[in-house]
Amino acid sequence: MKKYDPAETFGWHRESAAADLEHVKLQLDKLQQRLAAENRRSLLLILQARDAAGKDGTVRTIFSGLNPAGVRVTSFKVPAGREASQDYLWRVHMACPGDGEIGVFNRSHYEDVLVVRVKGFEPPSVWKKRFRHINEFERMLHDEGTTVVKCFLNVSKAEQARRFQDRLDDPAKGWKFREGDLADRKLWPKFQTAYEDAIRQTSTSRAPWYVVPADHNWVRNLAVAKILLEALKGLDPKFPAPDPAIKNVRVV
Ligand code: AMP
Ligand code: MG
Repeated sequence: MKKYDPAETFGWHRESAAADLEHVKLQLDKLQQRLAAENRRSLLLILQARDAAGKDGTVRTIFSGLNPAGVRVTSFKVPAGREASQDYLWRVHMACPGDGEIGVFNRSHYEDVLVVRVKGFEPPSVWKKRFRHINEFERMLHDEGTTVVKCFLNVSKAEQARRFQDRLDDPAKGWKFREGDLADRKLWPKFQTAYEDAIRQTSTSRAPWYVVPADHNWVRNLAVAKILLEALKGLDPKFPAPDPAIKNVRVV
């Protein structure tokens, strides 16, 4: 993880970033229409990150131009009720996108090898086995027509401090802050190890991880949008051919 600079800008320009993003979003919109029309395959974008790295902002910014009918966003919280009594993949599987849909996970089954590990909710004998389950689960999704793309929004400790303070100071943002966020911040190195391990163990050619620099919102948004665009282009969805029965039909 030390190799990746959270403040990286890839030589992109802040001034033109908004226009660049709009351009990417127009292409996303066109490809989403094809994906939905084709109705055969789906795409799942998984967003994982520490608090205040910008998962919500990424979803809001990137998906605002797309047809909401084709996008399914799920935010995973502490498992409650039935979720907690089933296996950890149960709720995740239920939220996976259907044919023609783009699914977005704001947190995911990766919490079950991250927070669960760091906070000791389960012993190593339980969470260690999950890397294999997750790889097999994602392989199954791939084989059944769901392309999985995973982004870790990489925010620095200093930037997180600024954003937390901002949440505390701004009345419109205070609701985002929980006292527990500070406890998690104290566990920074343990989360770092857990993230490194999880990314290493589950980055596959079928379901790769991208480490996205997240200290600059404009870089983060543009990077995730481009990753999504590349994935959709790779799928190259096609409008279905019209029914031959209507070939010579003229509407009068
Ligand atoms: P937020 O994303 O700020 O709404 O917070 C959601 C909280 O739910 C975070 O603190 C996550 O760590 C927690 N969470 C999500 N999934 C799990 C899980 N499988 N086990 C335990 N905690 C979880
Ligand atoms: Mg939070």
